[in-house]
Amino acid sequence: MMTEMQLKACIFNIQKFSIHDGPGIRTVVFFKGCPLRCTWCSNPESQSGKPEMMWNQARKKSLLIGEYKTIDEVVEEVMKDIAFYEESGGGVTLSGGEVLYQATFATELLRILKEKEIHTAAETTGYAKPSVFANFIKQVDLLYFDVKHYDSQQHRQGTGVDNGLILKNLAHALAVHPNLIIRIPVIPNYNDGLDDAEQFAFLFNQLNISKIELLPFHQFGQQKYEDLGRTYQLAETPQLHTEDLSEYKKIMEDHQIACLVR
Ligand code: SF4
Repeated sequence: MMTEMQLKACIFNIQKFSIHDGPGIRTVVFFKGCPLRCTWCSNPESQSGKPEMMWNQARKKSLLIGEYKTIDEVVEEVMKDIAFYEESGGGVTLSGGEVLYQATFATELLRILKEKEIHTAAETTGYAKPSVFANFIKQVDLLYFDVKHYDSQQHRQGTGVDNGLILKNLAHALAVHPNLIIRIPVIPNYNDGLDDAEQFAFLFNQLNISKIELLPFHQFGQQKYEDLGRTYQLAETPQLHTEDLSEYKKIMEDHQIACLVR
């Protein structure tokens, strides 16, 4: 039988000193693998669950993205910055890709970090078997949950999967998790219309969600598609800025949903 220490996950980055992925100074562990294929994805190198080659502009050579690591190796790396977590009220954030793609490893990693009294956060789109999702969120202190579309067919069109499982897991998280941040990545011509805001607000009211965050579309991932030799469908789509979402935000607030634009 495989012990927890023999578990391995494909990790493509361990980023130190992050201040945007939860409270305080954090280390972000980026997991490879995602069952979705969002047309706007800014981390296309995270989508495949296996290591892959990617051209690196700065070094003018191809580099391997993703490496199999044991839990021991990841824990050892993130614990190097414990003094910064303690000083700043920070901790460790799991991101991706979709962290639930390697859920056994991620859940065990969270459990070990909890034992060590390290604050943990995770970003997810909630696309996983409900039992797997439920076990995972029991171990995490702060959960960022991204909802991409209220309509199942549109969700499939933009991401490759429908939203049934995601909404089921969201309802469960809302019922049991005390520290949940719901986010909408707002994408032009996909979910950025004011009618979309109304529909999202209707869904959130039904779920008793009183607070959300909006993530305006950006083009930070554009070069990576070229570096991977892949086509980027949204190359010509303009970025959104905070001021572009003021009416969207107001619609949320009109429905008693506090709304922060990131
Ligand atoms: S869920 Fe996230 S990582 Fe997966 S394809 Fe969508 S944007 Fe990319």
